[in-house]
Amino acid sequence: MTPASPETSTPTVAIGAIKVTSLFDGWLSLDGGAMFGVVPKTLWEKKIAADALNRIRMSTRPLLVRTPQGPVVIEAGVGQSITGKLVQVYGIDRPGLSLDEQVGAQGVNPDEVRHVVLTHLHFDHAGGCCKLVDDKYVPCFPNATYHVQEAEWDKMMAGGGMQRASYVKPSLEPLRSQLKLHAGSGPVVHGIRYDLTRGHTQNHAVVWIEDGEHNGCFMGDLIETSAHVPMPWISAYDFCAGESFKARERLYPEFARRKTLLFIYHDPSLAALRLLRDGEKWEFEKVS
Ligand SMILES: [Zn+2]
Repeated sequence: MTPASPETSTPTVAIGAIKVTSLFDGWLSLDGGAMFGVVPKTLWEKKIAADALNRIRMSTRPLLVRTPQGPVVIEAGVGQSITGKLVQVYGIDRPGLSLDEQVGAQGVNPDEVRHVVLTHLHFDHAGGCCKLVDDKYVPCFPNATYHVQEAEWDKMMAGGGMQRASYVKPSLEPLRSQLKLHAGSGPVVHGIRYDLTRGHTQNHAVVWIEDGEHNGCFMGDLIETSAHVPMPWISAYDFCAGESFKARERLYPEFARRKTLLFIYHDPSLAALRLLRDGEKWEFEKVS
């Protein structure tokens, strides 16, 4: 059990009439070298310290998005998708609440959640869509539509491939009857839309939250932590780093121009930031 601390808090910010709460599903630890790709350790360890196994500890922060049309959840945390020896391997350390309980703790009835939106289906992002009841995975939100990129779903269901260790199929299969499959960028529900970036997976998509000129964007694994803001600081876990770089080249100027609030899923100490341009470099300011 992780003790309460500012790092595990659940801050809420407003995007116009939409209220966005960063939930906290717990910690996982992944190899620091892999998380920073071609960036040498002498540079990245100044920003995030590695443990004795050269791993860095990262949060998982799904979003509860309260829109005038009802509550929407973006991303799902690790949940109970990882069991046995792998809990140690990945350094999984969860407070223990399932995603529906986390939503309930914010004063929202989980039965009212009608939409769950996922950037991709890796276990640390989608593992909490279902919870274990009598050793069987069941969807956390029985009345929700789960939004997924169609090609990402097909990839996960087919199994195999370079990223096969990142998908836990039994924890996702029960969503089958509640799925809405999307083909690339486009609206999801009022105020929320997919923007296909590719890169991290072949069909990774970030999620815009918009109310008039107010806007935010959930980064998924396009910017994993604030240390990943510099454009070439791209994880070796990415299926195609070149596509991630292209997506950043396209989106960073738009984020700066529109003063977009960026929700960062894996940062150990912040939940949201804004990008700032400093000449040729990109910096950030912490928002919450
Ligand atoms: Zn991922």
